[in-house]
Amino acid sequence: MRLPESHPLLMALLKKFDLPRQEFYLVDVDPDDPARKTNRTWIHVNGLHERRADYEKNPERVNDTFKVTGENRKKTAAAILADALEPVHRLIRGKEGTALVDGWAEVLEKYGHWSMYRYLTEVAGLDTRTIYLVGTIQNLTSRLHLSFLHSFLSSALIDPRTKFWEIKGGTAQVFEGGEAIITVPFYGRQRRRHRARLLQLVRRRPQVGRLRRRGTLSVCPRRVQAVFGRRCEVFFTAKCQTQSWMRDHYAYGEASVLLPGQHTELFPDIPTSEGPLHFAGDHTSIKPAWIEGALESAVRSAMKVHTG
Ligand SMILES: Cc1cc2nc3c(=O)[nH]c(=O)nc-3n(C[C@H](O)[C@H](O)[C@H](O)COP(=O)(O)OP(=O)(O)OC[C@H]3O[C@@H](n4cnc5c(N)ncnc54)[C@H](O)[C@@H]3O)c2cc1C
Repeated sequence: MRLPESHPLLMALLKKFDLPRQEFYLVDVDPDDPARKTNRTWIHVNGLHERRADYEKNPERVNDTFKVTGENRKKTAAAILADALEPVHRLIRGKEGTALVDGWAEVLEKYGHWSMYRYLTEVAGLDTRTIYLVGTIQNLTSRLHLSFLHSFLSSALIDPRTKFWEIKGGTAQVFEGGEAIITVPFYGRQRRRHRARLLQLVRRRPQVGRLRRRGTLSVCPRRVQAVFGRRCEVFFTAKCQTQSWMRDHYAYGEASVLLPGQHTELFPDIPTSEGPLHFAGDHTSIKPAWIEGALESAVRSAMKVHTG
């Protein structure tokens, strides 16, 4: 997991538990000089196969496969998106205090009911082909029809110069200690049955055989092969698990993302307590899909419980 340095609660938690961390690089770097980005990752799209560094030097080759025309043909997808969002960034960039709040209020008022697709079409004036390019290369396609604010908030909260950290050995090891706090409510007669089921789930380990039978194990190496060729097979240990967030019974998707308009119409009610019931979780914060959002909601709920 990438842990942005700009998330204060998360950074404080890492410090408190003295968790070993190392820098997380958003792009591939030279191992001898990590300050130097190499951008050797592959772009594999529309039958083309080229390094990201080559795309940055000469975007036309990939852009032509999307039939992008005009001045955007010579721009990278990242630059096209950054330019498209610039007018909204200007409403908040460099502002503090009341001016910053007013800036965000204007963003909400103007674009709270918009999808990202509508913004890119009507404000940025991009045609469908260019939007497909941006969606594919910038990994935005699945969120184009969702709230403009969601994707914009992520881009605004994370400055490009932000440093990212990761926990050495992986985030999962934080939870591999002997104890766990389970936040699932148990009621009356169901208590024993639920408890037994939970212990069963906690004890169950990913079973490679089961995954192989279902065919999910092969998905991972096949996709890697498509990009790196068969030479990558020697590195494959067969110890892997494929997780489909769409099929996860409790998650129903990778993250909670609001639809256009829901930030104003629905969101104010989401974290509101109902008598003794308090609602926490990243989806109740304005930083959904970030651990920081979950922590913010935990602090809010704990304060509500203790101070009313
Ligand atoms: C693929 C992926 C990558 C991510 N990468 C990052 C990252 O790099 N950096 C970052 O900061 N954040 C990242 N996140 C987001 C981060 O994982 C979440 O924001 C965080 O885990 C949310 O914590 P939470 O406690 O609110 O909810 P969750 O961690 O989702 O916990 C909710 C729990 O409730 C359980 N549950 C739901 N319904 C029921 C029910 N009816 N009965 C019983 N149990 C139920 C679920 O199974 C789950 O265990 C990522 C998320 C995903 C999916």
